[in-house]
Amino acid sequence: MPLLRDGRPTSAQSMNDWCNKGIVGFTTALWMGVLTACYATEHDQAENPAPTDALAAAIANNAQTSVVDLCKRVARKLASVSYEDCAEANFEHNELRSVEGSPILYKEYGVVENRKPQARILLIGGIHGDEYTSVSMVFQWVRKLNEYHSGLFEWRVVPLLNPDGLLKSQSQRTNANGVDLNRNFPTPNWDELSQRHWVKDTGRNPRRYPGTTPVSEPESKWLVDTIAQFKPDAIVSLHAPYGVLDFDGPRTSPPQRLGNLRLQLLGTYPGSLGNYAGVNNGIPVVTIELPNAGTMPKGDQAARLWMDLVGWLKNNIVPQDGQKVTAADQAGPS
Ligand SMILES: [Zn+2]
Repeated sequence: MPLLRDGRPTSAQSMNDWCNKGIVGFTTALWMGVLTACYATEHDQAENPAPTDALAAAIANNAQTSVVDLCKRVARKLASVSYEDCAEANFEHNELRSVEGSPILYKEYGVVENRKPQARILLIGGIHGDEYTSVSMVFQWVRKLNEYHSGLFEWRVVPLLNPDGLLKSQSQRTNANGVDLNRNFPTPNWDELSQRHWVKDTGRNPRRYPGTTPVSEPESKWLVDTIAQFKPDAIVSLHAPYGVLDFDGPRTSPPQRLGNLRLQLLGTYPGSLGNYAGVNNGIPVVTIELPNAGTMPKGDQAARLWMDLVGWLKNNIVPQDGQKVTAADQAGPS
């Protein structure tokens, strides 16, 4: 399998490796989904757009995509997400859009009557646009929360932080300016460390380009603003395809296992969300690396992952103000 300089496969490379194995025996529908993912991933590696001033471009961008159009495009791209999943979920968005004018959707699951939430949880998918399952899984969890939200937690759910990357005809990890959003967050000494890391450790890998300045991109600014405003007690961020759990944050013990995934600390990078929110702001950040970027986990595995995640949050995450939670507050799912 082709590897990066840090010894890990890129998601596109890993997907291609898998595609090239030509695994057979799936249903026709799944096989069509696999072919679509293979086609998209094969072409990702050619992408290397030049960086520009993203914020200026976003402000100047008049061609704004509506939520309806965004939902249509997401449903066409992802076999596991229907137009109704997206359009009928009543997602909100604010004025700050992606480089190419897409709204960044989010949904609140707030306080339920007579129940004080244990904590605020921020759930994020699709920071990297070619990690399809990280988006589909969050949409699946939106369906669960629509049905079962009990008020145990106050959730803010962001299924697709990088819509432009996903919706390119050839989906790409980076945003429309070729910036890896997960290297663009404002960590200490960003100017020096991020450029050095990109040049020396990645060999100027365009898939890991951090941008010219921290928070240069509207999508990373959107998330920084959201963290400041929502003040999550924990952040859960989905990626693929390493098939492990990663954790950043000082205040609690990390999950050793969620579903089939086990803890394997992947290291901290300049400009990463885990570094910014976990290491520097003290918010526990659980990174779920799904095992495949193009094929969803089986139903029982996905269900177990969700149940274990909620269980871990319930047992480990307390509000930043340190208030005790009563046994009655802890009853019930999600
Ligand atoms: Zn990723």
